[in-house]
Amino acid sequence: MKTTPLAAAYDTADFRQWGHALIDLMADHIEQVQHGDIPQAIPYRHPEAELAFWQADFDQGTGDPLAFFRQVLDHSVQLHHPQYMGHQVSVPALISSLAGMVSDLLSNGTGVYEMGMASNAIERVVTDFTCQRIGYPATSNGLITSGGTLANLTAMLAARQAKAPTAVWENGHRERLAILVSEEAHYCIDRAARIMGMGSDGIIKIPTDDQYRLRTDLLPTYYAAARARGLHPIAVVGCAGSTSTGSYDDLEAIADFCAAYDLWFHADGAHGGAVIFNDAYKHLVRGIERADTVVIDYHKMLMTPALNTALLFREAHEAYCTFAQRAQYLWEASQQQEWFQSGKRTFECTKLMLSIKVYAILRTYGVGVFAENIDRLYTQARIFADLIAAAPDFELAVVPASNIVNFRYLPDAATDIDAINGYIRQQLVEAGAFYIVQTTLGKSRYLRTTIMNPLTGVAEFESLLAHCRMWAQRYGLVEMG
Ligand SMILES: *Cc1c(COP(=O)(O)O)cnc(C)c1O
Repeated sequence: MKTTPLAAAYDTADFRQWGHALIDLMADHIEQVQHGDIPQAIPYRHPEAELAFWQADFDQGTGDPLAFFRQVLDHSVQLHHPQYMGHQVSVPALISSLAGMVSDLLSNGTGVYEMGMASNAIERVVTDFTCQRIGYPATSNGLITSGGTLANLTAMLAARQAKAPTAVWENGHRERLAILVSEEAHYCIDRAARIMGMGSDGIIKIPTDDQYRLRTDLLPTYYAAARARGLHPIAVVGCAGSTSTGSYDDLEAIADFCAAYDLWFHADGAHGGAVIFNDAYKHLVRGIERADTVVIDYHKMLMTPALNTALLFREAHEAYCTFAQRAQYLWEASQQQEWFQSGKRTFECTKLMLSIKVYAILRTYGVGVFAENIDRLYTQARIFADLIAAAPDFELAVVPASNIVNFRYLPDAATDIDAINGYIRQQLVEAGAFYIVQTTLGKSRYLRTTIMNPLTGVAEFESLLAHCRMWAQRYGLVEMG
């Protein structure tokens, strides 16, 4: 029977056949990656070479989708590889990836209740559970949105509704508003302030201590100086933990300061807020329950595919004010039972069925799996840090508070430390066996690893240090010509 491409696109016989084959392909792939049979964590190609590859593929015209999927698998970073220690994106629990497939099949828009009944109700269950773990009161509530960047911007908009002297959302800016934040905060906080029209002056960066934690003792001075310059601070953002080093700010002290000065307290726990699910590490975020808003990325420490972020409000009604006109403020507050209309509180109108990816993990394995993951990753990071500290030719930047470990190779006196570490990092990526990143602390370059994969252990750490030494020697030879 002759069929059109349109009819074929909805044919379940193809779907069934390719689907079974694809699951087998992916399962085999992950097994090979996990066991190191695929040696590269990152099969690095230069951008122009990668473009040429895909352009040539495209120019061939249509073809077998499974061959295409195989190529995508082969041309991508392998987060499931034990030598993946790069950016802080979770290694997705496999059940969560399957949930993603269900979301992409149903494609319920979720912003409106009728367009995502299950996903809205499940979002409520998942965020209520997360609020409980924070230690929030029964008046709390949350939402799930597309990433920490968007969640932090949403939180800052809520802060402005609550704390700006006049109704900016309705009338535009009358005052010069500002946010106080650690100099180690994620760049998206800076970006949020600028998007909100606060400019460079409106993002007030507080210095950090030798552990890269916000110096809370400086908050009153910086606040007073801002007021003296005619600025009107509305919020303090605490890092739990910071992006470069994973350091946890003293949230208790920030909460005290915000209470005394009537400021919004936002805890950016995109990465490290997940410790609320582990009793042994929960103390790192002591005081988080006093934050007006908390951000936690499920796609970082909580095994969920990106993007998937909780934004949680201690007082649920504040969430409904974020995108509301002042004139509707009271009306909206009286409508607070409409938790099921997800889009009232989120940037997104149409939104993926994000909640089902988190829920699939909880429903299948229980919350204990989160606790176990955090325990494993934080413990392994400590082991790696000890290895580095014991090695005479490496320097540990700071004892890790979480699973982020920064270090650098120390060459003999004649060699530029930043240059050799930059070379090591570049060679590692291009060779591809390991994927790590780099960061700047103070003025110096450090190699930055985040232990995201529970399969990563001592063997990988020792091997990584050996590879660094090998490239360092190679650098010496390159230097000599
Ligand atoms: C990752 C991170 C962000 C940004 O979150 P995305 O989900 O990548 O948008 C913000 N803050 C902190 C502390 C982070 O670690």
